[in-house]
Amino acid sequence: MLKCKEVSHIVAEDLDLGFWGRLQLKMHLLMCVHCRRYTDQIRRLGLGARRQLDETPTGEQAKRMEDCILDRICPHGPGDHGGPNP
Ligand SMILES: [Zn+2]
Repeated sequence: MLKCKEVSHIVAEDLDLGFWGRLQLKMHLLMCVHCRRYTDQIRRLGLGARRQLDETPTGEQAKRMEDCILDRICPHGPGDHGGPNP
């Protein structure tokens, strides 16, 4: 029987366990609500991250995002760093 610590390690590292390992993992998840929740979160995060990678912005999108971010940081354009303003 796997321990919670082992399960969290396996899930976080996305280790390939082979048939018996996967079976043991499944058994543990059936019995342990904490690990089940943890696994669920990790998988969701994993999917989210993968989706982000699939939607890597193109050059044009990246430029627009950069402009948008710069605009937020420094709304009055370059050179104006919001000096003393009475
Ligand atoms: Zn557990």
